[in-house]
Amino acid sequence: MRLKICHLYPDALNLYGDRGNVLCMQKRLFWRGISCETETLKVGEHKDLSGYDLFFMGGGQDFEQEVLLSDLRGQNGREIKAAVADGKTFLCICGGYQILGTHYETKDGVICSFLGAVDLYTVGGTKRLIGNYAYRLDGADSDEIVVGFENHSGRTRLGKGISPLGHVLTGYGNNGKDHTEGVHYKNVFGTYSHGPVLPKNPGFCDLILETALKQKYGTAELAPLNDRFEKLAHESVLRQVLGAGYRRKTGRT
Ligand code: GLN
Repeated sequence: MRLKICHLYPDALNLYGDRGNVLCMQKRLFWRGISCETETLKVGEHKDLSGYDLFFMGGGQDFEQEVLLSDLRGQNGREIKAAVADGKTFLCICGGYQILGTHYETKDGVICSFLGAVDLYTVGGTKRLIGNYAYRLDGADSDEIVVGFENHSGRTRLGKGISPLGHVLTGYGNNGKDHTEGVHYKNVFGTYSHGPVLPKNPGFCDLILETALKQKYGTAELAPLNDRFEKLAHESVLRQVLGAGYRRKTGRT
């Protein structure tokens, strides 16, 4: 088995060490003997994206998002949108997540058209939504809790019938109002969680890898890893954000 990863716009969307998510995915594949090839697509570059299995897009400030607009209006935007429609796996963080939507309205009322690959939109606010947070992944068979750090002025609203990635246990999430966090559309995972999010959430990382392998090979069995340190980091943040009663609050008594 082999996965080909495309890191989209690492030169523009590169906040908060989000590239660490790519390193984490590479490592958790390597530790299982699954080969992985990673390439990048930078602003102004053009390449056929149909051969990639998994895409990553990190976060960026409003300015960097606007720098991308011309790129997204051209061939690259069309190829990224086609990859989403074809069921390719994506992990998109904050600004990279917002870019998948139809548009971003800045706090000054300027409308920036984005990819329109997923029915969601974002409206910039004056107060930034910042802090450590935690959310439970949606999905009948999931009890996965993700811990992370969010910092965004954008308030994202999901279109009718579009599923969130999860629901917040504490923190703001998509908009600080409807308790949703991120998006899970086809094989796209969008989240506001910076950090990088994956190293301290090994279950979430493996869910993404399994999704990409299943999409490519029809099946995926990831051998268990010794996640002792990852789980200690996860529990440490969970205790920090939920307090001493975190086991009761998460049903992990
Ligand atoms: N510029 C976007 C916002 O503030 C995304 C920020 C980010 O990627 N951290 O909502």
